[in-house]
Amino acid sequence: MNSQDGEADQRASLIETCLRMNAEGLNQGTSGNVSVRHGNGMLITPSGVPYTSMRPDMIVPMSLDGDWSGDMKPSSEWRMHLDIYRTRAEAEAVVHVHSTYATALSCLRRSIPAFHYMVGVAGGADIRCADYATFGTAELSEAMIEALDGRRACLLANHGQIAFGTSVERAYGLAVEVETLARQYAAACSLGEPVLIDGAEMQRILELFKTYGIQKPRS
Ligand SMILES: [Zn+2]
Repeated sequence: MNSQDGEADQRASLIETCLRMNAEGLNQGTSGNVSVRHGNGMLITPSGVPYTSMRPDMIVPMSLDGDWSGDMKPSSEWRMHLDIYRTRAEAEAVVHVHSTYATALSCLRRSIPAFHYMVGVAGGADIRCADYATFGTAELSEAMIEALDGRRACLLANHGQIAFGTSVERAYGLAVEVETLARQYAAACSLGEPVLIDGAEMQRILELFKTYGIQKPRS
């Protein structure tokens, strides 16, 4: 595969993921955005284009300095994507959505604690909620990077969630897991006070996740 074929595939996979996240109910409207690492920068979905009319040539290439080329403006939330690629070498793709339950918890500014062992899928004993800052700002990006320390996903206060992975498919899969966990946690909280898994047990679970290869990219 030459690099041009690779880029065409990457552009197509971003559009496919946008369509999928709305079809599967993870996102509504055009609030979600998806990117993939590309060369010394990234490819990201454009600002304000309905996914059903998005074409591969509308995907915006950006450098890690924040410059972009082409006629389309990148998603207004490009900064969070870029800062993940800048600071997390393992990140190959990023998915950001305003999924309903993750967003609902983020409005309570509540992290998802170890109420279920699958919380470990994001890399640690909880899924943190980043401090509030205005969308699109460097302040929000900074708060997000802090909340992502040792994790591959976090909630964003009064906003939604963001997840990354070693491929678009994996980043998307993690965003789905975060939304599922948020929904389950909300349901558990509606019945009473969930009993949390203790720290030692969560450490054991995180080790098991590594052993079972959940975090390893497919070869
Ligand atoms: Zn957003």
